[in-house]
Amino acid sequence: CGIVGYVGPRDSQDILIAGLARLEYRGYDSAGIAVIDSEGAMHSAKKAGKLAKLRDELVANPIASGTTGIGHTRWATHGGPTDVNAHPHLADEGKLAVIHNGIIENFAALKAELLAEGASFLSETDTEVAAALLGSEYRKSGGDLVAAFRGVVNRLDGAFTLLAMHEDHPNLVVGARRNSPLVIGLGEGENFLGSDVAAFVEHTRNALAIGQDQIAAIRPEGVTLTDFSGNDVEPEPFEVKWDA
Ligand code: GLU
Repeated sequence: CGIVGYVGPRDSQDILIAGLARLEYRGYDSAGIAVIDSEGAMHSAKKAGKLAKLRDELVANPIASGTTGIGHTRWATHGGPTDVNAHPHLADEGKLAVIHNGIIENFAALKAELLAEGASFLSETDTEVAAALLGSEYRKSGGDLVAAFRGVVNRLDGAFTLLAMHEDHPNLVVGARRNSPLVIGLGEGENFLGSDVAAFVEHTRNALAIGQDQIAAIRPEGVTLTDFSGNDVEPEPFEVKWDA
C-alpha cells in the first residue's frame, strides 16, 4: 500500500502513477488517483488489480489533467478488493477526495452517526466514513479545509496516513499521520507527500519528517506542519541519500 500527493506547476497524473509504481514493492490490490483541473474540478479514476489496470482505465477513459493530485495503492482491510472499494473516496458531492492507508478502528460508530445525519455510502470501507466525516466537518467549518481535516483526525482511532483535497482549494493537499508513515518532499515551486520517500525521490532529495499525530498542508509555494491541536511544529529536514 502506498500514498503520493503533488502540488505544483506540472501535470500531476504521471507523477502520481510513477510514484505509485515506486511504492509497488509494498504490495497492494487496487489503485486510484484524483486530480483537480485548471478549472477547479475534481476528476478521479480507480481500479482493483495492478497499476497496469489503472493505466489501461486511464487510456480507455482519460481524465482531465490537473496540477494538484493524490494517488493511492490499497491493501484491503474493510471491504473486498473491488473498483468501488478502491480509493480515492469522494464526499461533499464529489468536490472532496480522500485516500487512506491503515485502519480506522471506530469507523462503525462514526458511520452510524453520519447515516443518522443523512449521509449515504457507496463502499464498505472505513475510509469512506472518514471522507464523509470530512465533508460534514468542512461544511460546518465554513470552508476551512485544514481546520475541518484537523477536526476529523482528532475523531479517528487506529492507524492512518490520510490525504485530502477539495475543489474549493485547488492548490492544497492536506495529510496527516498516526501510527502510519508520511513524509514531505520539498521541490522548487512544487511539493510532495509520500508514504515513503520512494514516492518522490526522482524529483527531490530534500525531505521533511512528519511526526506522530501531525498534519501537513502542502501548497506549491510552501508547506506548513502542525500538531493535531493546530500548533505549529518545527519541521525536521533530512536529505534522501540512497540512489533512486
Ligand atoms: N482500511 C482501508 C481500506 O480497506 C485502507 C487499507 C490500506 O490500503 O491501507 O480501504
